[in-house]
Amino acid sequence: MNDNRTIRVSVGTAAALGLVNVRCDILPSTAYLMTCGGCVSRCAFCAQARSSNSSEALLSRVSWPEFPIEQVLDALARGNSILQRVCVQVTSTSTARKTTKELVSDMIKIRQACGFAHQISLSYHPSSVSDVESLFALGVDRIGIALDAATQRIHERTKAGSGSWAGTLRLIEESSARFPGRISTHLIVGLGETEEELVNIIQHMKDLGITIGLFAFTPVKGTPMERVPQPQPDTYRRVQIARHLITGGYVTAQDFSFANGRILDVGLAPETLRKLISDGAPFETSGCPDCNRPYYNERPGGVTFNYPRSLTEAEIQNCILEAKLEGLETEDTPRGSKGR
Ligand code: SF4
Repeated sequence: MNDNRTIRVSVGTAAALGLVNVRCDILPSTAYLMTCGGCVSRCAFCAQARSSNSSEALLSRVSWPEFPIEQVLDALARGNSILQRVCVQVTSTSTARKTTKELVSDMIKIRQACGFAHQISLSYHPSSVSDVESLFALGVDRIGIALDAATQRIHERTKAGSGSWAGTLRLIEESSARFPGRISTHLIVGLGETEEELVNIIQHMKDLGITIGLFAFTPVKGTPMERVPQPQPDTYRRVQIARHLITGGYVTAQDFSFANGRILDVGLAPETLRKLISDGAPFETSGCPDCNRPYYNERPGGVTFNYPRSLTEAEIQNCILEAKLEGLETEDTPRGSKGR
């Protein structure tokens, strides 16, 4: 390969690949790449949106320096025991589809030539199911179609210029029926929705066999939502627990009770609930296998919304207490075995 194409690489990924000399206390287990050129949509929370004044080198809290594609592919081809997956975040531009196809084709060639074992995810807004089909035909393993907003109302308020919520939902439904078990979605907690709305959409995604990645809304300077606070930790913990219980098949949305949209009860006895969450898994980063997104939503010293690794016993206890669910307020019940 010999060309001038470039791609953005999350700074943690660049460190893991040896492209930059930056010390990271936790490295990503997925290589996060992003197509260049910003995005034609106007999502009010996103630094890549054309309505944003933030640096194009930002997505959420993470900076994404730009490198020649050839250099990144060479680094991936050398192999890396930390990185298990490659995820390409495709921003919506007129050239994104072409760039993505070329990039994926190159990665597949490298994978075949050097036994490069990484799975490939695309975080992409396809135009149709046949678009999804053509990307899977190239050799992509999973496609993430972000819903972001839990409802039509939240979508209209925060995702101008990115089609309709119902249209994205329909694409997700049709794609998951055509490619069962290979579609992921992202939901952002803290855009103004209720916990009940999140529980309902999580259940719908579970029924479709879709993998759900939860994100905590993160204000980025220069975006229309720069002054909106992050979700409260108790809300985020309850939604993480709800996701874990619903996707694990332990309960359904019907089992929950709510007060003014807040989760009051998950429909399990406290001791059963504690047992199901005591390994800390609900509080780890969720999404495609091996996707840990370190510091995507977190600032140093602040709340760790998504843990990019197994939690310690103390962290598990803290998360359980933060959830403020009835019957979980004390620390003196037995804990699971995970953690250090
Ligand atoms: S869950 Fe992670 S690997 Fe999967 S599409 Fe989202 S960011 Fe990429």
